[in-house]
Amino acid sequence: NGLHLPQRVRHHAAERPDAPAVTWGNTTLTFAEFDRRTTRIASALSSLASGSGARVGALLRMRLEGAECFVAAAKSGLVFVPLNWRLPAAEAAAIAVDAALEVLIVEAEFAKTAEAVREALPGLVVVLVDDVSERILPGVWTWDRLAASGSDTDPGLGDDPDAELLQLYTSGTTGAPKGVVATHRNLHNEPEALRIYRWRTDSVALDALPLFHIAGAGWLSTSLSAGVHVVLLDAFDAGHVAELVERHRITHAFLVPSAIQMLLDLPGLGERDLSSLQLIAYGSAPITPTLLRRALDRFGCAFVQRYGMTETTGSVTALTAEDHDPAGDRAYLLRSAGTPMPGVELAIRDIATGADLPAGVSGEIVCRSRNNVAGYWHRPDETARLFAPDGFLRTGDIGHLDADGYLFVTDRVKDMIITGGENVYPIEVESVLAEHPAVAEVAVIGVPDRTWGEAVTAVIRVADGADPTVAELLDFSAGRLASYKKPRHIRFVTALPRNAGGKVLKRALRENLSAAEG
Ligand code: ATP
Ligand code: MG
Repeated sequence: NGLHLPQRVRHHAAERPDAPAVTWGNTTLTFAEFDRRTTRIASALSSLASGSGARVGALLRMRLEGAECFVAAAKSGLVFVPLNWRLPAAEAAAIAVDAALEVLIVEAEFAKTAEAVREALPGLVVVLVDDVSERILPGVWTWDRLAASGSDTDPGLGDDPDAELLQLYTSGTTGAPKGVVATHRNLHNEPEALRIYRWRTDSVALDALPLFHIAGAGWLSTSLSAGVHVVLLDAFDAGHVAELVERHRITHAFLVPSAIQMLLDLPGLGERDLSSLQLIAYGSAPITPTLLRRALDRFGCAFVQRYGMTETTGSVTALTAEDHDPAGDRAYLLRSAGTPMPGVELAIRDIATGADLPAGVSGEIVCRSRNNVAGYWHRPDETARLFAPDGFLRTGDIGHLDADGYLFVTDRVKDMIITGGENVYPIEVESVLAEHPAVAEVAVIGVPDRTWGEAVTAVIRVADGADPTVAELLDFSAGRLASYKKPRHIRFVTALPRNAGGKVLKRALRENLSAAEG
């Protein structure tokens, strides 16, 4: 009954063997079944890999085998590396090579990528989860054969709290994805989660995020540790989310802001019965107050915001359900990411000098806690840059604390625009433009400008049926933003480039615009 995922699963299997653990499609495994299956797979995986610490990758949508593989790897002292299946084959293969995978669990749809990986890693053992292996990829294992080859004796290798358990790659929003290695101790978020999510043993949690993102993997490991029934969604689709909520009476869900937006825009949402929802956790990317208010209004359940990053595994801060009070006199908190989680030390530091800054002053957000990982996989220089001399982790995000200790995340250091010597935080400009009824989505970036250094540029997807003029949008922002923050250019697009987690890829936007205009 310690802080390790395998021990927690074993505990629930002993205490509540018939309680549902995981549901995917029409299959539900109880804790006893899930524990038994993951033990068999763990013992089979141990015999395929070279030993403790070997990397086992997965190219899977969110599905039962992914959850089984995660826990099985943990039981056998192996490190689970879920790969982003939305990446082009060459990029996914590059990550697999970076991680030096020994085993790759894959579904038929991604067989091409698996082949590319096998060419680059000749010793790789490929395990196919579908039943069509021989036709698609010759010479591979199937999931059933893998499970059948294992024994019912737990290898007993998953009980060291400082053992590595999960290797995830950062989202690649600001640069190439980097491998982040997390231990059992880093990922143990159960007590905090129980408190802020108000999970109970009869809660039903929807995991709608991919396993290759910390929010998806963390939500899964935390719900299994807490003994909560988790329902897996293979790939995000708003209609499917509504269906699962109705079918399984989902009580808790973690949704990124773009997913909340898609759900709110779902035709016929008003007729769906979403009354089972007790709490929606959101985060991973900034949310506009306009979207948050719409969501609070429509769903009528509790909301909790989480702010964190792959490198901090769990949350650094949380805006609790009590803090979400749009009608109260602290409604300004809807713009905040909340207060530090228990055990997290948080500070704001001068970007140039690293000096601590007082409340109200913006700088880089830094934090220290047992959830922070030790570093990146095989990137000593990047690891050195990640930490300040006193061990605080540099998030690369800009923000400030208010007098009550609430954190406001303004933007990323890399996205900040410097125009005519003034700092402009794109998110502030985006929040203003998002209030205009003709604006469906907006991203603000700096484009090189001879006079200003960078010129504030708004890239907008117009709402269906609307036809705003540039002048109208500029007028709208003029009344609401200081003049140097006002966009100098407005560009209309049919879609914003986003990564798999729904984050706008501002570096892609900057490159596209320079290419189009240069
Ligand atoms: P890369 O590091 O490869 O550029 P990434 O930083 O997007 O990609 P993640 O670790 O998945 O990869 O995301 C962490 C980042 O997401 C944080 O540094 C922060 O910028 C943003 N973020 C997370 N939660 C919130 C939140 N609640 N509000 C605003 N931004 C958030
Ligand atoms: Mg990052």
